[in-house]
Amino acid sequence: MSQHRRFPGGRLIVATHNPGKLGELRTLFRPYTDDLVSAGELGLPEPDETETTFIGNAELKARAAALAAGSCALADDSGLCVEALGGDPGIYSARWAGETKDFSIAMERIRRELAAKGLETSPAYFVCALSLAFPDGHCETFEGRFDGSVVFPPRGTRGFGYDPILLPVGATETLGEIDPEVKARISHRAKAFAQLIAACFDG
Ligand code: IMP
Repeated sequence: MSQHRRFPGGRLIVATHNPGKLGELRTLFRPYTDDLVSAGELGLPEPDETETTFIGNAELKARAAALAAGSCALADDSGLCVEALGGDPGIYSARWAGETKDFSIAMERIRRELAAKGLETSPAYFVCALSLAFPDGHCETFEGRFDGSVVFPPRGTRGFGYDPILLPVGATETLGEIDPEVKARISHRAKAFAQLIAACFDG
């Protein structure tokens, strides 16, 4: 029997202030609830991401919303880990792009830091931690990983963030070049969603 706590139905808060993520999550979770609202729509504050892991930050965001609103809440935290850089930018992936969220700056920083080590490429992977928090603070959290390597110069304009430098294992096109529908099926986010759905929503 599953050791996971199941979603009891009713309101589900998406603890994001990002309209893109809200739209994506609405589509994914529509079969399980028709009362999906964002933390932003409820005027809930956005907590600082003070934890040191993807799972820690996903749980912090989900739990803060669930406790504040008294309903179940979902949050994710994701990023790119470059092995030759000791896992950087990791949980700082968004922050490396600066205030203006310019990922060409963040990608160039990765190229520079690899070059300083005499490297042109490195194994790398995306991580997504996805957490469902309950009003008593309990969390069910799952992690998905997508492996590849970072390559330069960046290629493709179809993705977002670090997609133009992530070449999946065995592929010839970066995530910035492949069909976004294909990426949505195979990504770190898809893997974390699939685990959460199987453990807490399906059946
Ligand atoms: P979060 O919104 O705090 O989880 O930040 C995620 C960061 O990792 C952002 O800077 C994204 O650009 C980056 N990131 C996460 N997933 C992906 C992806 O699938 N492609 C490209 N960049 C990603």
